[in-house]
Amino acid sequence: MDFNSHADAIVRVAVGLVNELTPGERRGRNLPPPHDLAAAATEGLRAGYPGHRKVTAEEARELAGVAARLRAVFDAVAAEDVDEAALRVNALLEETRARPLLQRHDGEPWHLHFHGTGGTAAEDWAASCATGLAIVLGSEFHDRLGVCTAPHCDRVYVDVSRNGTRRFCGTACQNRVKTAAFRARGRTP
Ligand SMILES: [Zn+2]
Repeated sequence: MDFNSHADAIVRVAVGLVNELTPGERRGRNLPPPHDLAAAATEGLRAGYPGHRKVTAEEARELAGVAARLRAVFDAVAAEDVDEAALRVNALLEETRARPLLQRHDGEPWHLHFHGTGGTAAEDWAASCATGLAIVLGSEFHDRLGVCTAPHCDRVYVDVSRNGTRRFCGTACQNRVKTAAFRARGRTP
């Protein structure tokens, strides 16, 4: 997939925030609530921006709210309801009044940022992630957002493979499913 690199990064942030901050299951296990929400939120942001500063506890709480909204978009696409996904992304775009702004900092060339109106980091991220998902949903790659199909895992991913056949959140789940299938075949007479 070939969006501009900033859009790629913010889609990775959306994936990171959902996976770190929404409850559910990961790789066959129930996911307990993070004991350090700020660290988890920071980890999510660093999925797209490895050098991101550590967020505050309050920012993390706001980001957890954003993550829940973003998860609904992945869930809708996984359920093949792209209309629902688009409605949810549009609601976020409208609420945050996501607005593009070219910025240049840290020695990078001019690149596009997206800001919300609230002035908080979480609102800016909500605006950015909504825009990133909007770019995906508005492209021929609209079905590239996914929820892991392995048993007892509901972490999300964006499929950037050439042929778009990804089904798992990562190699751990892929291997779990392969092993289970192998054992099942072994039991078949
Ligand atoms: Zn998984």
